[in-house]
Amino acid sequence: MTSSYITTTIPYVNARPHLGFALELVQADVLARYRRSIGEHVRFQAGTDDNSLKNVLAAEAAGVSVQEFVDASAAAFTGLARPLSLSVDDLIRTSSDPRHRAGVERLWRACAARGDLYRRHYEGLYCVGCEQFYTAAELAGGRCPDHGTVPDLVCEENWFFRLSRYAGQVRALIASGAIRIEPAQRRNEALALIDGGLEDFSVSRSTERARGWGIPVPGDPDQVIYVWWDALGNYLTALDYAGDGENLRRWWTSASRRIHLLGKGVLRFHAVYWPAILLSAGQAVPTDIVVHGYLTEDGRKISKSGGATADPYALVAAYGTDAVRWWLLREVPRGADADFTADRLVRRANDELSNGLGNLVNRVVTLICRYRGGRGPLAPASAPGAVPLQAAALQAALTSAPGLIAGSLEDFDFRRATEAVWRIADEANRYVNHARPWDLAKAGDGAQLDAVLSVLLNACQAIGAQLAPFLPDAAARITSQCTPDEAGLLPRPAPLLPRITC
Ligand SMILES: [Zn+2]
Repeated sequence: MTSSYITTTIPYVNARPHLGFALELVQADVLARYRRSIGEHVRFQAGTDDNSLKNVLAAEAAGVSVQEFVDASAAAFTGLARPLSLSVDDLIRTSSDPRHRAGVERLWRACAARGDLYRRHYEGLYCVGCEQFYTAAELAGGRCPDHGTVPDLVCEENWFFRLSRYAGQVRALIASGAIRIEPAQRRNEALALIDGGLEDFSVSRSTERARGWGIPVPGDPDQVIYVWWDALGNYLTALDYAGDGENLRRWWTSASRRIHLLGKGVLRFHAVYWPAILLSAGQAVPTDIVVHGYLTEDGRKISKSGGATADPYALVAAYGTDAVRWWLLREVPRGADADFTADRLVRRANDELSNGLGNLVNRVVTLICRYRGGRGPLAPASAPGAVPLQAAALQAALTSAPGLIAGSLEDFDFRRATEAVWRIADEANRYVNHARPWDLAKAGDGAQLDAVLSVLLNACQAIGAQLAPFLPDAAARITSQCTPDEAGLLPRPAPLLPRITC
């Protein structure tokens, strides 16, 4: 039995979640739902990174204790599961989950036992926004290329991880595709990072600089484990790595796929640091690293630390879960950036969900109610000769959809996958206009009318099934609208996807 472990990154909780993170959650959810629907075992894992120094600074600014602050803020992230209709199996919180600290300590000890951790004096330029050191060459005019802030000069004695020892092995795993990085541009970027030379990196900081927040280095209480080591560890700790439990075996060691979803800004950590740490600890490496781009809102970068905010809660409250998920899946190009505007979301939802899908199902059920007393199915759609010739384009869309969806999701191309579902609706709407069932009814052509209505009901049922991983809520409504009751009658037509306004 194929089993897949699908993870999102765990965000810092220093500010409210934004639409860019909702994108990652929804993509992971689609993969999880789709793989479950084809009979795979799936575990969909998400969580929050509570141990960042950014959280400490945000708590100080808010004048509350760090634990109080992260508890309240993390709830805003884990709470997204409901408005976004996420089928998440587990949420880990790094500051309070008892599995986490013990697991991070085990990961540390495993690498230490391999001789891959050592102490040395270090001076470097640290961006708290990124939670990473930069070399002078990596800065843009002395400033963080991501945040535009001047990094802090940090001089202290830290623990280092022997990344350099694993450069060749990580490179070979990526080059061979054993670690598949998509899209290819990101794979090349990871290879270029390695080819540029990998230096050992600092994996702890003084407890003082960490304001006493975080996981102490085992056996060295004056040092706190680097937040990225701590955060990356969540992918294992959530599987009871500390206790070497059954979950670890099932979802990591012997899983068919270990799929990490992440944004392009954290590629280095997932594609280079994380596989090296895993190799050192004697664990399997990820099979898939799936990288998405950034969202902008009206051309401004959406980020927690500033600029536009596109709040997923507010968007779902205003436009509904289906419309928000549909925009994220239909308009964000594979692995690339996209610009969000509420106007685009509304237009896309009205054009395709309301006018396209919703209207189609409503029309078909209304016709069946009017001409056949709501009785369906009317004729076996598979009966030879029962399908009027002009249904060829619709039949082609129906037949090709499962394969197109499977292939697109294997490529992590959510736009292409949803396009295959949309094509069924588009062709079915065209078919209604072409076959003109109302004329067949008027002409008393009962057999042809039955055949046409049967083709259409079958298409609507297929849409309900194929749409399920993408829009689980709308798909459930469509399926229930198109499923006859015990008496063989369809439910009375009700609006499924009403028009929304900006
Ligand atoms: Zn930065």
